[in-house]
Parts: sequence; structure tokens; C-alpha cells
Amino acid sequence: MSRCFNFSAGPAMLPTEVLQQAQTEMSDFNDSGMSVMEMSHRGKIFMDIAAQAEADLRELLNISDDYAVLFMQGGASAQFAAIPMNILGNKTQVDYINTGAWSKKAIAEAKRFAEVNVAASSEDTKFSHIPDYSDWNLNNDAAYLHYTPNETIGGVEFHWVPESNGVPLIADMSSTILSRPIDVSKFGIIYAGAQKNIGPAGLTIAIVRKDLMGNTIKNTPSVFDYKNVADNDSMANTPPTYSWYLAGLVFDWIKKRGGLDAMSEINKRKADKLYAAIDQSDFYQNPVQVDCRSWMNIPFTLADANLDKLFLEQADKRGLKTLKGHRSVGGMRASIYNAMPEEGVDTLISFMQTFEKENG
Ligand SMILES: *Cc1c(COP(=O)(O)O)cnc(C)c1O
Repeated sequence: MSRCFNFSAGPAMLPTEVLQQAQTEMSDFNDSGMSVMEMSHRGKIFMDIAAQAEADLRELLNISDDYAVLFMQGGASAQFAAIPMNILGNKTQVDYINTGAWSKKAIAEAKRFAEVNVAASSEDTKFSHIPDYSDWNLNNDAAYLHYTPNETIGGVEFHWVPESNGVPLIADMSSTILSRPIDVSKFGIIYAGAQKNIGPAGLTIAIVRKDLMGNTIKNTPSVFDYKNVADNDSMANTPPTYSWYLAGLVFDWIKKRGGLDAMSEINKRKADKLYAAIDQSDFYQNPVQVDCRSWMNIPFTLADANLDKLFLEQADKRGLKTLKGHRSVGGMRASIYNAMPEEGVDTLISFMQTFEKENG
């Protein structure tokens, strides 16, 4: 198997060990004579795979019985709508923090259902920082407070959990879940599309505090009704079975590597060394304020944007792929989720240094 270092923001790299295991089991899972893709979601074999994946995720994140763990579809984008539909109840107002492109999309969707109060925004500084908590304009009548702990495009990450003054705190953790331990009990809902740090696209995880379920607004589609999904063990309709299975392999891979404490140590080290390489040079630059730089997505620009194309071509030849920045930001972006080996970051840094010497 020949593998590159794929810095894609998502769908992103999966651990090679996981892909190899999936390959071994591809056409005959555990002497069943079938691929997991071909199995009934209601058969014993798949039910066991599903239950094990949930148990492992609960163990990794230390999720208590007060929470349902839902395996859904539609991506984080579907959750942008599912959240107001499930949580608004009799209220009309909701609070959102705007720290980047994904916050904005969540806000736009919520506006279809509710009056959105943007309690804080860093848009005026092009999302290069997180607004001071003391300046947040929180509304006590809000049905919930929503924020994006890691902005995948801008590379801005909360290294703290905001206090929500008693209203449910809701977090889009698509690009940071499983990168470090979190205290789930501080949240009403945590959700994440799988394709960044969990598994293949098609699966969306929602971790929902049980007392928040069962109060949907009128006309909520049943596939988005958390209570309906929970009551049917995420099998009210056919779930994305293969993605669920692969997510389970990833959870097991994380457990074997020491869980989220170990992940966070490696992730911090990987990010620290890449930021250090950027900061030590005058050739590369990262625009994000130091205290809120992402461990997962690291955008950087070259001193001369005319060199972007050459940088990408030469990086590609060294097996460093998908480094092109998001079209809205330009420059480069290195997404270094759990599955990116430290060696990939080391190889990138050494390439960057060589490129600077030759072109700086
Ligand atoms: C990728 C991403 C999304 C969108 O996910 P979809 O699964 O494509 O809907 C939303 N929020 C964040 C933070 C993301 O990184």
C-alpha cells in the first residue's frame, strides 16, 4: 500500500491500520461470507458492530447515560436545521457566536426557524480571534447558545468551554471531536460530521442530553427528531451502515493508542511544531491570534502569493497532498487530524524550509 500525507480538510485521511483492517474484512466480515455493506442493519452481526462502536465512543468521551448518542445522516449541515427544530420549543430566540465560515452557515440556517442573536462576532477582524467572553451579549431568553469550537476554514479554535448561564450549550465539533478530552456534561448537544476526525462521509454523530429531546417544533421531519432517532437506536430508517462500521474501527484505533489524552498530546505537539516553523520564518505567515490557533486546521500564506502554485506542485511531488487553502482564504491549509502521522507534519516542515531557502 502506497500512502501519501493527505492534508485535506475533509473528507480527510483515515488511519492506514483502519483501512487495512477494512480491506481484510471487505468481502467477508468475520466468516459471515458478506461485506458489512451488504448486511441488514437489523441483523445480529451489524447490531453488534453498531453497539460496540457506540460503547467505544461513550468510553472515549466519557459520555454518561444522561446523553443519547445518535448515528445520523445529512452532515453537520442537516444538524444546523435539526437543532432549532428540536430545541426551540416555545421560544423564539437563539444565541450564536460567529467565529468563522461554519458559524455563519449555522446562523443562516437557524434564521429559517428563529430570531438569531449573534452574541459575539469576530468578523470585523476577518475571524482572526475569538471575542473576549466579557464582551459577549448573551440573552437569558435564548433557547440555546450555539458555537463552533473549531473553525475548519479559518483555523480558529476555542481552547476553553464558554459558560452559557443555564441555557443549553450546543457545539459543532465536526473538526475537533476526538482530538482531545472534553467534558461532555457541560454541553446540551455536541454534533459532528464524521468525515474530519471520525470516519467516512455520510455519518453524522449527535450527542444529545436526553432531557432536551421530545419537544420538536411542528412539522419537524421524523428523521431529524432526536427522540425518534434515539427511541429506535438510530435505526428508525436505514443508517449509513458502512460508515458506522468504519467509525467503530477508528474508535478502536484511538483506544489502542491510549485514548484522547494520548491524542491530545500528539495533536498539540504536531500543531506546536508547525506553528513554530511558520512563526520562525518571515516567509510563512498564519493570521490567527496565538491563543486561539487550531490544533487541527492550520492555514498559512507565503510571502509572495505568486509562489503558491510552485509550492503546491513541489509539495505534491513529495507526497504532501491537498495543501491548497480554502477558496475564501487563499494560501495554504494543513489539516492535521488524528490520522495524520507526526511524520507527515515533520515532512511538511522540512519541505517548507527547503522551499523557503530556494525561493525566499
Ligand atoms: C465540514 C464542516 C461542516 C459541514 O459538514 P457537512 O457534513 O458537509 O454538512 C460544518 N461545520 C464544521 C465545523 C465543519 O468542519
